[in-house]
Amino acid sequence: MPTPYTFSQRAEKITSSTIREILKVTERPEIISFAGGLPAPVGFPLRDMNAAFDRVLGQNGRTALQYGPTEGYTPLREWVASDMQRRGAGQVGTEEVLIVSGSQQALDLLGKLFIDPGSNVLVEAPSYLGALQSFSLYEPNYVTVPTDEGGLIPAGLTDERVRDARFIYALPNFQNPTGRTLTLERRQALVQRCAEAGVPVVEDDPYGDLRYAGEALPSLLALGRQAGATVVRLGSFSKVLAPGLRLGYIVAPAPIISKLVQIKQATDLHTSTLTQMAVYETIKDGFLDEHLPAVREIYRKQCGYMLEAMQAHFPSTASWTQPEGGMFIWVTLPQHIDAHELLARAVAQNVAFVPGAPFFADEARHNTLRLSFVTVPEARIREGIAILGRLIAESHAT
Ligand code: PMP
Repeated sequence: MPTPYTFSQRAEKITSSTIREILKVTERPEIISFAGGLPAPVGFPLRDMNAAFDRVLGQNGRTALQYGPTEGYTPLREWVASDMQRRGAGQVGTEEVLIVSGSQQALDLLGKLFIDPGSNVLVEAPSYLGALQSFSLYEPNYVTVPTDEGGLIPAGLTDERVRDARFIYALPNFQNPTGRTLTLERRQALVQRCAEAGVPVVEDDPYGDLRYAGEALPSLLALGRQAGATVVRLGSFSKVLAPGLRLGYIVAPAPIISKLVQIKQATDLHTSTLTQMAVYETIKDGFLDEHLPAVREIYRKQCGYMLEAMQAHFPSTASWTQPEGGMFIWVTLPQHIDAHELLARAVAQNVAFVPGAPFFADEARHNTLRLSFVTVPEARIREGIAILGRLIAESHAT
């Protein structure tokens, strides 16, 4: 039957993943889901945000409900610029900041800005699935950079790999999906290499403030500016306040921001004025410094529960990462176990996770999976991990 409409070739290329289908069932309440990437709702500052929205609407409501500039609410842009300076990025001007509707929008805008069909984009193997989905709409040719325990391997940025690359997409802190952190030496080597090769670095760092172990490391923005690299840094309020706000920002050289402003204007005019004003009202006097320790503590405990349970229940043939922050643990199973097949058996026992394969832009490793530990209560973590451990051991036996 012919359809009475014709989708674009670009839209036709998008396919619904098999995991999405399987994960639909994970919304059932009896399922112990380690699949979602949702932040812990107990960490949302409900009272403070309620008060901030009240104050903004009460004192400045007509501005808050009006259209605003595409660049974003100026006091919030100034806050971001001074926050970057405070974290060692040197002088950052307001004209180097663009407020966006979540860092996911930043990924889409960067795809529109930098990618032509067939142009090379460097990504880690594995990388954030949502970024791969965003960029893919613009039909890049992915060139993958190898990674290990210390994050992406800068020596892997060979002349052949970096040639004609439009940018490298890097996740330095508690990477989604692996939970790994890029070491200081590698951060330095990465920005140095990109400065020499003339390849912009897109630094996506939504989890950086959720560090609950180890020492904070300088951002690629801070190091890149010293090394003369072009760095586009993406930040988000989703994990430090709440994801439903849909608020994030881009910090980049002013000519890049100007072009992104034109693109964002065509995309959605601007990010919600009310939300920007309420978030600024919430954070302007140092709220995050008080709020974040409590959020980190929730995540640290949750991570600990899961690592403990894995230690107790997973067979020694499986290995996994030890995150110093963020929301994810990455598991590598024995070579012969396919995580998709394991997921089908796990869902039958009311446990869910995300198989690792879709996080690879090429050559998927089917024996990997991602576990999220933040939203499941302690006892359910133990129960779910015990079931998974048994299923992994059983696949080993066959
Ligand atoms: N980047 C990474 C690495 C993420 O994990 C996420 C959220 N899952 C995003 C970007 C998008 O975040 P948001 O749009 O909520 O800022």
